[in-house]
Amino acid sequence: MGRIVALDQNMINMIAAGEVIERPASVVKELMENSIDAEATQITVSVEDGGRKLISVSDNGSGMDAEDLSRAFEPHTTSKIKTSSDLLGISTLGFRGEALASIGSIASVRVVSRVVDSAQANCMEIDCGDKGTVTPCSGDIGTTIEVRDIFYKLPARRKFLRTTNTEMGHISEQFARIALGYCPVMDSSGNESSDAIRKGLSLTLIHNGRELYRLSGALSLEQRIHSLFATLSDDPSQDFLKSQSNEKGTHIFALLGKPVISRTNNKFQYIFLNGRFIRDRFISHAVKEAYRGLLEPNRFPVVFLFIRMPNEDFDVNVHPTKTEVRFFNSNLVHSQILGCLREKLLGTNLDIHAKLPDMGGLSGAGAMAGGPPRSEKIADAMAEFFKRHKPSQAQQQFGFRAEKKSPGASPPALRPTVEGRPHHYEPEHSITVRKFIQIHDSFIVAQTDDGFVIIDQHALHERVIYETLRKRISTEGLQSQRLLMPASIELTKSQMSIIEANTDLIEKLGIEIVPFGPNTMAVQSFPMMLAESDPIDFMQDLLDMLEGGEAGPGGEELLDAVLNMAACKAAIKAGQRLDDSEIEHLLAYIESTECVSRCPHGRPTTIQFSISDLEKQFKRT
Ligand code: ADP
Ligand code: MG
Repeated sequence: MGRIVALDQNMINMIAAGEVIERPASVVKELMENSIDAEATQITVSVEDGGRKLISVSDNGSGMDAEDLSRAFEPHTTSKIKTSSDLLGISTLGFRGEALASIGSIASVRVVSRVVDSAQANCMEIDCGDKGTVTPCSGDIGTTIEVRDIFYKLPARRKFLRTTNTEMGHISEQFARIALGYCPVMDSSGNESSDAIRKGLSLTLIHNGRELYRLSGALSLEQRIHSLFATLSDDPSQDFLKSQSNEKGTHIFALLGKPVISRTNNKFQYIFLNGRFIRDRFISHAVKEAYRGLLEPNRFPVVFLFIRMPNEDFDVNVHPTKTEVRFFNSNLVHSQILGCLREKLLGTNLDIHAKLPDMGGLSGAGAMAGGPPRSEKIADAMAEFFKRHKPSQAQQQFGFRAEKKSPGASPPALRPTVEGRPHHYEPEHSITVRKFIQIHDSFIVAQTDDGFVIIDQHALHERVIYETLRKRISTEGLQSQRLLMPASIELTKSQMSIIEANTDLIEKLGIEIVPFGPNTMAVQSFPMMLAESDPIDFMQDLLDMLEGGEAGPGGEELLDAVLNMAACKAAIKAGQRLDDSEIEHLLAYIESTECVSRCPHGRPTTIQFSISDLEKQFKRT
């Protein structure tokens, strides 16, 4: 007897649901997208228990009449396409007709919907594929869909849901993508760009009765970014550049984060195509190329990119979640984006002066007409590059002026800390005292017994700190000191849970961080060895690293990556002038630290030259 049977429709839906509905955030995404497609101007998302208990999305859009309502939860039912030719040129976010059917098959759902020309609303309930009848009820114009107890009949799926904080983090992320994708975009002269998709979409996100975000329709893109990602930039109007281009029907508008707000992962690269959030490796590559030379290799720029092009020029029917698209001419898209971004970045004075406190209405140095000469551009880019290493929070809080880390400015002292004090080994090649010179504020040339060495000051110091940190951490952990003023840091839900999950590591590093309000934590103690770095800056990068998972899953690997990052931050920088005693300290390390010939990233720290080499070169022998 044959063993193959046809699955019933409910089973088919449940299986299909796996493709679209992975977690509560997927429900939020699909329902918000439906509200956008229904031309809503107001969407309220209210969830309970990270979406496990309830996800409710309410809109003031077109609504559904009784007939549509009874069909909307059937598989493959849609009002957005009819024939295969409609697949070319899709202008709506949805078109596959499977989201509601999927959601209805894995939860307990109630829908209330009313169309504009109707005096009353209709409602319907679906319980894990078991559909009730449509009945009249009271309700406002628009649609409200309540999804309760997601996966309650699918224990295997429900088991995979994470903590409330983690699920809430994913939901906030989906909310943010819609909020940014459907925000009027202003061009660099402050006019609403032709890219503006919709004016005044108001959005609210509520968790357990508490309002997390209320974004009024009048908020600009920068204001939205600031509300959604409070820790990204203190002053978006200063930290971002605007660029746009219009070629062959493709309009690009970009908000480019200056190198000073770069991150350790690419989470803050938001790409929107006709309002839809997408991921695309061609575009990511173009962004990376545009910033080439302006960022250290392990940093990622913050970029918000809005692309508008005819719907016929790409295909979104590539993946069930529709975050991937296929461009019909991806090379053209790549080159236009690269050109638009690169031109702006290179043509702008990225000088640190632009960030000095406002002295009574004097404006910062903006873009110069025609752009500065090339050498100046490079110098500016370097100044911006070094500026990322901000003065410590304590200095800022006590009102000391930020030191300008450009050539000529005095550097923070290179002090041997308790941990960093050299041990006394038999030196391999001792450096004759005082026969050294710092060149270009970046390299030290020092005489040795049998020749001389050229030392990369940053690379060497980084190595020394890295080695000392490693030794300390494997024994008693890092010695920490209490900050005079706790440094508070605003965190997202998912960042909170990351901190929770990594308390051991954070403690080992000598960081004490405690809750300090609803979305805020305060760093109370910080490792002594990292006294020169800003605790907030450090925490931000640490979170990025833990969040991005780039460091790999193994504890050892992660620790190594964190120590690398810490060493890089704490080390003196290229471009810092050192005085003789600071150079002496640095040179003493050469004699005391193991593996000093390479920095933690594998680059050399020291290049040696022997007298005999020189004599040969000068044909003396
Ligand atoms: P799709 O969005 O791909 O068409 P869905 O399953 O998400 O498929 O939705 C099915 C249909 O239900 C939509 O095509 C639309 O006509 C209707 N619909 C869903 N949500 C809403 C809403 N919030 N307002 C009005 N109509 C809606
Ligand atoms: Mg849909």
